[in-house]
This record gives sequence, structure tokens and C-alpha cells, in this order.
Amino acid sequence: MFSLASILRPHILSLTPYSSARDEYTGTEGVFLDANENALGSTTSAGRYNRYPDPHQTAIKTQLAPIKGVTKEQIFLGNGSDEPIDLLIRATCRPGQDNIVILPPTYGMYEVSGNLNDVEVRKVPLTAEYQLNLPAVLSAIDTYTKVVWICSPNNPTGNLIDPADIRQVLAAAQSALVVVDEAYIDFAGPDYASWTTQLAQYPNLVVLQTFSKAWGLAALRLGMCFASVDIIRVLNLIKPPYNISAPTQALALDALDHVAEKKQMVADTLAERSRLAEGLRRLPTVQQVFPSDANFLLVRFDDANDIFNQLIDSQVIVRNRSAVTRCEGCLRISVGTPAENDRLLAVLESIA
Ligand code: PMP
Repeated sequence: MFSLASILRPHILSLTPYSSARDEYTGTEGVFLDANENALGSTTSAGRYNRYPDPHQTAIKTQLAPIKGVTKEQIFLGNGSDEPIDLLIRATCRPGQDNIVILPPTYGMYEVSGNLNDVEVRKVPLTAEYQLNLPAVLSAIDTYTKVVWICSPNNPTGNLIDPADIRQVLAAAQSALVVVDEAYIDFAGPDYASWTTQLAQYPNLVVLQTFSKAWGLAALRLGMCFASVDIIRVLNLIKPPYNISAPTQALALDALDHVAEKKQMVADTLAERSRLAEGLRRLPTVQQVFPSDANFLLVRFDDANDIFNQLIDSQVIVRNRSAVTRCEGCLRISVGTPAENDRLLAVLESIA
């Protein structure tokens, strides 16, 4: 049986959270002399930002909850999803004692945050098909394992992880959180249901999503974390009070009124992803274009380093993953605008 209290670092539940200035009075009218703000205004003509933002981000959560099929109390918002990645490790892993399990090749911040927090990072490589090596994953998990990180669709490989395998991990890891990072979920197509639909079944499940990809708001730095009310309460207990800035909150609220535009951008990206994949497959220097459920393609070239450098010389910048185990010879290429994708293909054709 999973028990959150037993996997938290011992001091966490007795922490007193930073009490932000306006906890006792939640009204918007009044003379506010409690937070040492500059009452006179702001040093920018772009708006008034002299007051601290809502530490609970209530307006966004109220609008987001029905869209995601969860309650407000099941949502944590972070300064990018990178913030909950770090907070989840800090809430659970005793430095020098506990471990996390990651499944490379995968997103880099799980390991960076693990290392930063002096936590052992156990690596169980994905199979050649970029799926879980389930027996190896299950045997890597022990009573000191506090978080298992599963990225689906996975970065940099682009594929979804088999849900049946994720279920097995969720069932087996009774003394760990299982985080399913769905940063690229919107590009996986309508048949794929988010793991947020499974939160009631699995008290150890945490789902990450972000405004940085399909919503087109990477510069805002806004990540979403969905989990049980108890897990979200812990994240709120340990977060810095004003972790989401006022412009970010305002712009995210506005974005939530533009769901149709987001859907259209996703559809356009998917159409371009197919066109780009076809264009790449026709090139003689390309060995393999991996199937993608994300907004990028993993592509194996005859000589990836040479292609990478020649693309840079033409001011086309992609991500070189050729030194990453299981991605040997591969570049990761984001789907761009139609014109950008044409430019990439034209440069690659001129190299060939
Ligand atoms: N998870 C994955 C799988 C990612 O690829 C990224 C960013 N590239 C993130 C999380 C972090 O996203 P954010 O901008 O929300 O911090």
C-alpha cells in the first residue's frame, strides 16, 4: 500500500511554509501596507507590476481544472515543469541515501536535479525500440527509490511509452512516486488519453505537463503538475511563495481562452511533422526517421556530426544527440514553420 507520509523526507510535514503577506486578508480592496512593495508604481511603461502576484494562482487553477478533468486541489503550477521536477525530488529523497530511477535516453533535468540534490540516479536504458526494459526497471526499484521518471512521449526519442508497462511500474513501486512527464502529450493524437485520467486509481502517480510546447508559451515558464490532493499539498508547502509571476499568470489565463487556437497549432504542427518526415526520408544522407508522437523528429544520419556542423554553418540549428547512448548518429529536429522546414530540407539537400 502506498503511503505518501512514509516516503517524504522526515522533516517535510512539520515544515512551516513561508506565510505570504496576504494570507490573512484575501480581499482585493484596501490599503496594502503589508508586503514592502513600492506603492507608487512600476519602472516600466508596459503595465503596473508593483504588487506581488497571487501565490495560489487561483484564477488559472479554476479555469484549468475542468479542462484537465481534475480539481483545483490536484494542480500545482511551477516555474516551468523544471520546478516540480526539482521539488518532487527535494520533498522525498534524503541526500546521500535515497535514489531516483531514470530511463535514458530521456529528458536531462531529472538527472540534473537528482545530482544537485545529492541523490543517486539509477539509469535503466530503454530498449532498442525505446520502450521500458520492464524487468530491469522493476529490479532497479528498491525501498530507497523515491521517484521513477517516465517521459511519454519521450524526449529525445519522440515515442509514447507502452501504457501497460507504466501500469506495471505504478503497481510495483509502492514506496515511490511514478512521474509521467507528458510535456509533449498534445502532439500524441486524440486516441491517447493523458495519465491524468488515472490519478484516482494510482495514489503514487504524478503527471507533468507544460505551457511551453503546444500552448506556445515557453518564455512564460509555466509548468503543470497533477497528482493526488496530498501530493499537491506537499508541493505547495515547499514552493517559494510567489513562484509564478503576475505577467505569466495573466498571459496564461488569456491563453486558456484560446483553446481553439492551440488545437489549430497542434494540427498544423502534426501536418508539418508528416511533411518534414517524408522530406527527410527521401534524403540519401538520412538512415532513419523515427516515428514521433511529439513536435520533433529523431533522425539518424550517415554522419550526424558532419551534418550538424554544416547545418550550423547555414544557420540552421538542431540538437546533436549523436553522443547519447541509443541515439548514436542522431539529431533531434524540432518541427518548425513550413518555411523553416523548407529551409532545413533545402540545406540538407545541398549537403547531399
Ligand atoms: N519535460 C520534458 C520532457 C521536456 O522536454 C521539457 C523541456 N524541453 C520539460 C519537461 C521542461 O519544460 P518547461 O519549459 O515546462 O520547464
